[in-house]
Amino acid sequence: MTTGVVFTEDFKKHDTGRRHPESAGRVDAVARALRDPSLTDKLELLEPRRAEREEILLVHWDRLYEEVLESAGKKRTLLDSDTVASADTAEVAHLAVGAVLTAIEAVMDRTVQNAFAFPRPPGHHAKPDKAMGFCVFNNVAIAARYAQKRYQLERILILDFDVHHGNGTQKVFYTSPEVLFLSTHELGNYPGTGDLGELGKEEGEGFTLNVPMPPGMGDPEFLRIFRDVVVPVGLEFAPELILVSAGFDAHRDDPLGGMNLTRDGYAGITHEILRLAEGTCEGKVVFALEGGYDLHALEKSIVSTLAVMTGEQMPESADFEKAAEELVSEVRQAHGAYWSSLRES
Ligand SMILES: [Zn+2]
Repeated sequence: MTTGVVFTEDFKKHDTGRRHPESAGRVDAVARALRDPSLTDKLELLEPRRAEREEILLVHWDRLYEEVLESAGKKRTLLDSDTVASADTAEVAHLAVGAVLTAIEAVMDRTVQNAFAFPRPPGHHAKPDKAMGFCVFNNVAIAARYAQKRYQLERILILDFDVHHGNGTQKVFYTSPEVLFLSTHELGNYPGTGDLGELGKEEGEGFTLNVPMPPGMGDPEFLRIFRDVVVPVGLEFAPELILVSAGFDAHRDDPLGGMNLTRDGYAGITHEILRLAEGTCEGKVVFALEGGYDLHALEKSIVSTLAVMTGEQMPESADFEKAAEELVSEVRQAHGAYWSSLRES
């Protein structure tokens, strides 16, 4: 089976203006990545379908939905201080959600092994009642709710490795034990949420796991966190589907992030995610693009990620084994009560 990629040039029609970092140029970077000669015959290109109103309302309030619809045809509507809608944004935002739904359908119906959707605008900052942080609708949160409903899934893992905390997604599932939200992000970066102590509440206590990483951490530290926190907890949770909020703004060249990942680091992380998916849900994993603002880094990181998703083998590396020692022990302390795999023996 192949790797599905859900993409359309129509994502360029969401026009944020020339100086906005979340620019239409990002769509060209994705297109270049998908044309990379090392990948072309291994990918199955899928057209995104348009999400229905009822699907978007699985997460969002009617009020936000109407606010977005009202922006249609208008040159510029400010949905939030840094989140702008152009004339076509409302339409494109339906396609962005639909892209992730299309990817889920392809993976769940087993027409592809795994899939990567490239929606724009991104989604993980969008709250039920509010667009924010370049995000209009929360593509991944809606997709998780859709998968619960359509496929009767009881356990979904959302993994968010964007450099920014996925506050919108966290909020949607904060009281839910059916969706484990697991996020790595840069400590102190936008939007300021995502402390280790934010761990879900009520029924959902323990089902939010934040790993705020100090600026400057790179490949070895990320690999250590994935090896010793993300994969063990993921295996213990045993999801039936894994959704990945894949932002590439923790890359060392990214203008909005202070982390130090390289394209090889993204390959390493992806390898760990696939290992987790193979150990729990027959490899059923859907990646969805979030951030990533250096266009060259974005293109190359996507190529590296897709190479691993299509079966490229990873060289064994051991240089991460002692990395991020203090952070790993903090996470174990904060979450050991919920996950036996984090209790130090
Ligand atoms: Zn981001």
